Amino acid sequence: MRVAVLLSSRVLSEAQRWQLASSLYDQVRSLVEGSVALLATLAVCAYYKDWWGFWVLAAATGVVTIVRLLHWRRFVRARRDRRAGAPSPEAWARSYTIGICVMASLWSSLVSSVTFVVADMQLLMFVLLIQNAWIAGAGIRNAASPSAILGQTLVTVVPTIVCTFCGTSLLVRVLSPGCFVFMLVVLKIGRFYGVQMLSLMESEQRLAAANAELLKLSCTDGLTGIANRRAFDERLAADWAFAVRDAADIAVVLVDVDYFKRYNDHYGHLAGDDCLRAIARHVSGSVLRASDLPARYGGEEFVVLLRGNADQGASDVAERMRRAVYDANLPHAASPIGRVTISVGVATTAPGLDDVPATFITLADQALYRAKQGGRNQVCVAAPMRTRQEAAAIYTA
Ligand code: GH3
Ligand code: MG
Ligand code: MG
Repeated sequence: MRVAVLLSSRVLSEAQRWQLASSLYDQVRSLVEGSVALLATLAVCAYYKDWWGFWVLAAATGVVTIVRLLHWRRFVRARRDRRAGAPSPEAWARSYTIGICVMASLWSSLVSSVTFVVADMQLLMFVLLIQNAWIAGAGIRNAASPSAILGQTLVTVVPTIVCTFCGTSLLVRVLSPGCFVFMLVVLKIGRFYGVQMLSLMESEQRLAAANAELLKLSCTDGLTGIANRRAFDERLAADWAFAVRDAADIAVVLVDVDYFKRYNDHYGHLAGDDCLRAIARHVSGSVLRASDLPARYGGEEFVVLLRGNADQGASDVAERMRRAVYDANLPHAASPIGRVTISVGVATTAPGLDDVPATFITLADQALYRAKQGGRNQVCVAAPMRTRQEAAAIYTA
């Protein structure tokens, strides 16, 4: 039975399993209503028949209700804190099942007492009416825990079937098969809702995974597998805003493959693609900090966004990249250098409120242009657009 593994479904995330457990415990109002219904039924019974057992059952109902409310409070805390080693959502669902079965046993005790001790068939009909209404509602509400539905229904309805079967009036005995059918219907309804709930949550989970995959794809360059221009632009905007707020440094390293048109013409476009993949590996491999983002800027151009690297850091990274590509010694017969090389432009700044990222990228581009003009296979660093001290001065002025 698929629904039997509802809470332990491997497809569901931890959060979803807590959500299922919460769907049981969040019915605290129903818990109180169920207790009130039982107490009211007991009060009616005590009014019509003077028997001490009703008072005992009422006291037991009060105690069980208080214990269940305290347990509910512990669950709410556990859900909020989620400490390591604390009970899992499955364990909470199990203890919920125990609580609901104890409550169910109080109902069946009442039905048995009215049938066998008090032997009042009119009172029995009244108790059955209230009890079955309560069970039918719980069958739907507890869909997240099939064992709770099963336990509650069996503990309540099986004694009821026996009691009605042993009833002294024909009308009550006729109710016996009716109760059996009622039990099957409640179980079926519970199962139906459980299956619906599970498939909904599984779809939610698959949708979330597909969304995450889509997000990853939308930020990844198809050819080289590193971040794409879109990811770079988004990250630049975010890092720029942080740098403005904190008067912190930000740097970009712009990389362009030298004589790449000639490479394509000489070795073919597919070999050109392989070459770009290799360069992407060297560019990424030269970036050591997890916070720095290497990306394909477009065509045969790459870019790296670095945080807090205005000093020597950015030009060191740039030089490491140039060296890595040079040392890889990828043959390039159509280049005067004889191997694949890159030219690199570096720009750094501690951006102010009036600065815009486009100006900053243009600075790196101009540095790259100078590297090309200087003979390629080299790094050129632009003068800082604004130093950290200048940026800080804007805020203190
Ligand atoms: P320079 O040293 O001045 O940068 O010369 P270059 O030949 O590298 O520059 P140019 O801009 O003239 O040529 C860039 C070439 O990069 C042209 C284009 O065919 C190639 N290119 C751009 N994107 C890709 C790609 O995805 N795959 C391949 N194989 N080639 C690409
Ligand atoms: Mg280019
Ligand atoms: Mg080029």
